[in-house]
Amino acid sequence: MPNVDSLEIDKFAKLAHHWWDPSGKFKTLHDINPLRVDYIRRHCTLTEKKVLDVGCGGGILSEAMDSSGAHVTGIDLGEKAIRIAKLHQLESGSSVRYDVLAVETLARQEPLSFDIVTCMEMLEHVPDPASIVHSCAQLVKSDGTVFFSTLNRHPKAYTLAILGAEYLLGMLPRGTHDYSRFIRPSELVFWCRQAGLELIDLCGVHYHPLTQTYTLGHDVSVNYLMATRKQ
Ligand code: SAH
Repeated sequence: MPNVDSLEIDKFAKLAHHWWDPSGKFKTLHDINPLRVDYIRRHCTLTEKKVLDVGCGGGILSEAMDSSGAHVTGIDLGEKAIRIAKLHQLESGSSVRYDVLAVETLARQEPLSFDIVTCMEMLEHVPDPASIVHSCAQLVKSDGTVFFSTLNRHPKAYTLAILGAEYLLGMLPRGTHDYSRFIRPSELVFWCRQAGLELIDLCGVHYHPLTQTYTLGHDVSVNYLMATRKQ
């Protein structure tokens, strides 16, 4: 059974034309992108590194890492997202290699072949996130770094990321997120340890509604980033 929820893929397919609109439905991903790239560069250098971006969507993070000198492969099971990512490349001239491929399949085909693996804002959309974590761990070389980001199953995340962002402020389309699929940092750390990934850092992503800006900080109760290293 493939580890994919076709309703989730359809949800993203309906929004595919918004991927590269910085003030559209994926505004949040555009806004947090510089913070994510800074976070990655704080833990490892991207220059000349072989990077895999799992659940890359339209390529917002993939292209930014390509601009930072990495050799990036972006995979997603959303065919529309990959089509948009490839189209955008014609404009941007980025050299990301995109493919419609399950991470579990790539892990069987090319184990231990990436210096860095990123899997951002994707785990909360799949039926079996632990399997994704396991495959990311198989794909990264020994001593390589794997980054995850997702939403915490914490009441504050329900209030801010669902009620606030989807219903009150309209920052995300209603129904984008399902609270029951949010993941506690302790759960993610547990899956990482089982897969041979050791936690090196955990950090919160905070939204400031008055200034409409984002910063990184200690509070991981809503959205968080995690850096891990393959033992
Ligand atoms: N990582 C990107 C996009 C996040 S949106 C970023 O942070 O900018 C979530 C993405 O996960 C969507 O593109 C969706 O198509 C993808 N996705 C959902 N389920 C998936 C699965 N089982 N395998 C691969 N990608 C999946």
